[in-house]
Amino acid sequence: MAAIEELVLAEPRGFCAGVDRAIEIVERALAKFGAPIYVRHEIVHNTYVVNDLRAKGAIFIEELAEVPRGATLVFSAHGVSQAVREEAERRGFKVFDATCPLVTKVHVEVAKLAREGYEFIMIGHKGHPEVEGTMGQLSEGIYLVEDAEDVQHVQPRGDKLAVVTQTTLSVDDAAEILAAVKQRFPHVREPKKQDICYATQNRQDAVKVMAPAVDVVIVVGSPTSSNSNRLRELAERLGTPAHMVDSADDLLPEWFEGRRRVGLTAGASAPDILVQQVIARLRELGVLSVRNMDGVKEAVRFPLPRGLGDRSMAET
Ligand code: SF4
Repeated sequence: MAAIEELVLAEPRGFCAGVDRAIEIVERALAKFGAPIYVRHEIVHNTYVVNDLRAKGAIFIEELAEVPRGATLVFSAHGVSQAVREEAERRGFKVFDATCPLVTKVHVEVAKLAREGYEFIMIGHKGHPEVEGTMGQLSEGIYLVEDAEDVQHVQPRGDKLAVVTQTTLSVDDAAEILAAVKQRFPHVREPKKQDICYATQNRQDAVKVMAPAVDVVIVVGSPTSSNSNRLRELAERLGTPAHMVDSADDLLPEWFEGRRRVGLTAGASAPDILVQQVIARLRELGVLSVRNMDGVKEAVRFPLPRGLGDRSMAET
């Protein structure tokens, strides 16, 4: 295979503060209470992370009925509905909540505005656990839209309507859907600060700079990871072929035939060890030099839930 002149690394890429915190919660719970620690849903959507925690004693479940009474249970970074929260309490679990604080912020906003009589349009992907968790903050009055077409079918009962979004959407798609919402419901209330999180925004911004400057983009991320899928789609929309890989083993040499520049990024749930393994494999496939893009330096860090110790805090 001909040499690949340059591998360009997107900045920022990989772990966000919410993922970092969620993994630390499971690890600290294991250290403090011993195995097993039950985790509702994959703690974050990454195969490597889940397998690693499983090997350390975490048990991943979907239904709380699978968890023995009195056990320690961690809610995943995606958040849970009120029904799940209440069931966990009823079943007497010791719960640690690894819901990302930026998802909790959306839940709090929904609860507050619901008390003021608002109904909601939620922009998000059906079936994603974060969407189920946010929709499940209310028993009624929250309508999911996945695209601009769905907006036309929303029938709110009252005239107080607010919009919330999944945190890991495509920034551009969400803006388009929001425009459709505003066109149909001109008085809709928007969040003060958009719900799409800083990590999603920054990783997409970096791909927007990187993708046009390379011949192919590789995204490290698992198929279930929403924000990783959005990075791959974004690169393709910008006209650059893109592939998502769960590990270095998924890289196919033919993707790099005749390519001079390769771009590499990683979703917010993909650990750096996988990125390093992909870089090593790409060197074997002919990469001559590796360059880190300039980009936003993230310094966000969230506190742990009470009972698991402190961590040094920086800007959140
Ligand atoms: Fe939180 Fe955003 Fe990371 Fe999701 S992607 S865990 S919302 S920081």
